[in-house]
Amino acid sequence: MNTDAVKLLQGRYCNSLTEYSRFVTREVNIGDVPMGGNNPIRIQSMTTTDTMDTIGTVEQSIRMVDAGCEYVRITAPSIKEAKNLAEIKKQLRARGYNVPLVADIHFTPNAAEVAARIVEKVRVNPGNYADKKKFDQIDYTDLEYQGELERIYQKFAPLVNICKEYGTAMRIGTNHGSLSDRIMSRYGDTPQGMVESAMEFMRMCETLNYYNLVISMKSSNPQVMVQAYRLLVETMVAEGMNYPLHLGVTEAGDGEDGRIKSAVGIGTLLEDGLGDTVRVSLTEEPEAEAPVAIELVKRYSLREKEVKGERLKAKGNEIITDKNLSPFTFHLSPQTHNPYEYKKRHTYEANAFIGGHMVPRVVLDLSMKNLKDPGIMADAGYIYSPLLDKYNMAEQSVDFVYLADELPSFNLPGNLKQIYNYQTWLKLVDKTLCHPLFTLKEYIGATNKTSALNLVKLFPEDIDSEEFGSLPFDNSLVFVLETNALHGMADQRHFFFKMEELGLEVPVIVKRSYGFEKDHGPSIMDHGRNTTDLTSKLQLYAATDLGALLVDGFGDGIWIEAPEVDTKVITSTAFGILQATRSRISKTEYISCPSCGRTLFDLMITTQMIRSRTSHLKGLKIGIMGCIVNGPGEMADADYGYVGSGTDKITLYRGKEAVKKNISAANALDELIGIIKDDGNWVEQE
Ligand code: SF4
Repeated sequence: MNTDAVKLLQGRYCNSLTEYSRFVTREVNIGDVPMGGNNPIRIQSMTTTDTMDTIGTVEQSIRMVDAGCEYVRITAPSIKEAKNLAEIKKQLRARGYNVPLVADIHFTPNAAEVAARIVEKVRVNPGNYADKKKFDQIDYTDLEYQGELERIYQKFAPLVNICKEYGTAMRIGTNHGSLSDRIMSRYGDTPQGMVESAMEFMRMCETLNYYNLVISMKSSNPQVMVQAYRLLVETMVAEGMNYPLHLGVTEAGDGEDGRIKSAVGIGTLLEDGLGDTVRVSLTEEPEAEAPVAIELVKRYSLREKEVKGERLKAKGNEIITDKNLSPFTFHLSPQTHNPYEYKKRHTYEANAFIGGHMVPRVVLDLSMKNLKDPGIMADAGYIYSPLLDKYNMAEQSVDFVYLADELPSFNLPGNLKQIYNYQTWLKLVDKTLCHPLFTLKEYIGATNKTSALNLVKLFPEDIDSEEFGSLPFDNSLVFVLETNALHGMADQRHFFFKMEELGLEVPVIVKRSYGFEKDHGPSIMDHGRNTTDLTSKLQLYAATDLGALLVDGFGDGIWIEAPEVDTKVITSTAFGILQATRSRISKTEYISCPSCGRTLFDLMITTQMIRSRTSHLKGLKIGIMGCIVNGPGEMADADYGYVGSGTDKITLYRGKEAVKKNISAANALDELIGIIKDDGNWVEQE
């Protein structure tokens, strides 16, 4: 690692890694709704209507506000739309809606200068405010690079001066997929490039004494997005800045995938105490986004109260504080952990199945199911055929089932590992593929273990106990890590730091329990009981809690327990989290934009249509983008792209190369499949 990187790591990007503490930023005025400082984390979204459709945009904005949006963003692709923002604003105010409006600008400084006189905030993308994307690789000398910055300053300074004059705020919104050729040439497609892209504009603002700024670092890859925001905070702090952060994962997609991907990215940063406003970006109606953002954020307002006031005792166990371990220990040990680069924690491989270089394993609790019916195995990803008397495995078949003290009366799939409580395991006649789950005490006292895989459940605080000190270690040992703490992710992360300090390479299955007993951790039952609510909450909470650890490289397996939620949902949530953190790929990934006033086709219907024919192409990344202006850049690392390029016209991409331009929308999907086949990446659906 180079010295610069080490120097960066010795700074800080959050207040604490082991307990909840919000990183306080500068307060920024945006109309009547200030952001940052001690204000609540704000909720926002963006319209999808044509900005020239005044009534449509006003009505959609109202639906968004009613759903919980505190700011409404509207695209302004040219001066014409920028001017129409005045009419939209007038009609909203006339209907009693004072929501601050944000103009979204790409490529058009002249539209920004008009909009900044009308709305409360403008969003500029530093990757394309003053640069056209040509995908050129240019070797700039320092002098030439400086010359480029001066050219940008000349284009950007007028907008800053207008914002100062009109009291308009500005978001400098970097997107991973639309970095300028200049930044790409010097820093590459990296979090550091994303940060530098924004910092150049932020420094220009400060030169002009303008500080009404909000910053974002979005990517469709939660891993990259988390690293970029962390590095941004580190860099801001080093330069004496503390601007509020707008959190978002771009092109997250729809449904379960979109929710899980958003929660992994946004939730991880919220867990770090970062974030002043959240926009969840789904390929759904914009009013569907606010409830998801609200659900993500709500947990932290409760937690904040908790930290400020009396600490909640969870099952008689106070939240672990960092009194024994400096929260920044790993900053000083960059060889083991670097929050700006992904590196999986080093563990040994137990039973040639878990830990080491193996993908994270999935455990599913079936102990409360009807163990007389082989059909229940479908929830675990194994479809039983009574005719053939055999199971079919799929990409999302779990690796372990937990049966506690229950014995199934049918044969389980031949390759499926089973976990039993130790005392029950002792009594099993045939122990093939059966593994015991011990308490710490049981494991220390046990004379009868397996040489294959012994699982020991424990809580983070157990690492300081006498029992832990007398554990017999060998390579059959795997920990199942639970938590009772309100801020469970930090509690479990603390455990991993301690394991690293002690040099222990035991694989760890991270277990989280939701809502099955009030004293077993934060309950998802607190805020409603309907099934959709529970499903959505489980997806968001588990993706935040487990995703945040996986993004840090922690965890060799995951185990989600939520008795009130359909077991099938638990399985798909677990695999969805692994996919979103890119730690285990089990399905096609769709990078689909949320659509906006530039969109040239119905994104929701098109996404569903493409999904229906390609969802079996495990590991392929397909971008589905509404417009040719931003789409190709925003798809970032998609393998193939389906991009609107005119009315009923689609342009198809292989990586960043347009391979079929302006073809009819009616044939576009068949043509896309043809390209995938030509590349040898097609498989027939079973
Ligand atoms: S890619 Fe989608 S959301 Fe982005 S500008 Fe184009 S249509 Fe709008």
